[in-house]
Amino acid sequence: MPLLAFLTFDFTSIYIVLFILLVVNPIAYYFLVNAYRYRVNRAMPITRSQTVKLAAARIGMGMVFVGGGTWVSLVVGDPFGVLLCYIVVARITIWWVVGKHMLILSSKRLFGWIVAGMIIDTAFDVMINREFLIKSDNYYHGVLLTLPVVVPVAIFVYFINRRGKRPELVEQFDPSQFCQTCKYNLTGNLTGICPECGTPISIEFATIPPEN
Ligand SMILES: [Zn+2]
Repeated sequence: MPLLAFLTFDFTSIYIVLFILLVVNPIAYYFLVNAYRYRVNRAMPITRSQTVKLAAARIGMGMVFVGGGTWVSLVVGDPFGVLLCYIVVARITIWWVVGKHMLILSSKRLFGWIVAGMIIDTAFDVMINREFLIKSDNYYHGVLLTLPVVVPVAIFVYFINRRGKRPELVEQFDPSQFCQTCKYNLTGNLTGICPECGTPISIEFATIPPEN
């Protein structure tokens, strides 16, 4: 019985894995979304509260689709490796949905987002497998097992966060370029009236020449 095999694992490992899944993984997701807050195809960057909501959305979808698939395989078994294929497809789909339809990323940035998400997910899989396979007998040993994985993940997330705050990304969200009523991008507008909602705009923004 695969389910009984699961239950024979050392409980120290289970507690550490729960901590990784419920605390460390959400933190990694939060900072992944944070790294993309200025990369979005929106009038305004993603706010802190939106970042929390998007990370929560990713966690929720993961619990339902990836977690659900994992439980099904624990109960019925997975002799042909169907679960692994399912998890990869489910995760790519979830990152795509969150990136394209919730963050509003396009082309190259959407692709980078999905790749970054899959790198983080794979790193957490490695971390969890190490805990279960090596069966730590105490918490100190269990936490030590995660370090070879969690440290590179932290460096990776730090790096994409730093890249995500570079001036050419941040400066495209100059609030003076946008309609104060509907956030429509007014760069190059010559009429003095927002074409989206009709709000009059001040002269200095109306006379900015088109970028291209
Ligand atoms: Zn407007």
